[in-house]
Amino acid sequence: MRVGVLALQGDFEAHAAALGRLGVEAVPVRTAEGLEGVDALVLPGGESTTMLRLMAVEGLDGAIAARVRAGMPVLATCAGVVLLAREVNPDQPSLGLLDVAVRRNAYGRQVASAVVPVRLAPALGEPPGMEGVFIRAPRITRTGPGVEPLGWRDGDPVLVRQDRIVAATFHPELTADSRVHRLLLETARA
Ligand code: GLN
Repeated sequence: MRVGVLALQGDFEAHAAALGRLGVEAVPVRTAEGLEGVDALVLPGGESTTMLRLMAVEGLDGAIAARVRAGMPVLATCAGVVLLAREVNPDQPSLGLLDVAVRRNAYGRQVASAVVPVRLAPALGEPPGMEGVFIRAPRITRTGPGVEPLGWRDGDPVLVRQDRIVAATFHPELTADSRVHRLLLETARA
């Protein structure tokens, strides 16, 4: 299986390393042509406004939306969740493929970035929690009926799944627990 990592901006190298630890070849994706050769895609953290602009230059926004609608498995983290969300506050364009509303930078500024315990649904296995690295993270303020919460920070959903989209508002690529990346691979193999 070839898993693409959107590599326009942000922490794509950490995702490639996390996938490599699971024995999976990660392919940097920078163009619509590059997207054609992958079976699944990671949308990394970074700056969603910058990524949106760079995606539009390459026509990658439309190409990614078409592949996701056709069922390509996706793992979105942090800014990646902002890219996919149906509703973004304050208002900004997005692909609108994940039926959630998010508020950007809702847990505070860079200085408020923190490692916070995330409680996990039993489907994620043991142990029942993991460390979540939150860096100017978006907060999910609404989840649609097709969205299954799988992890929580206090009462907020921070890890969700909708069909073949797995979305985490934290950075699972920065900790040793590989269960979120495994969830993507299981989704892609199912
Ligand atoms: N604050 C960024 C955004 O809204 C996300 C930060 C991150 O990905 N670590 O685009």
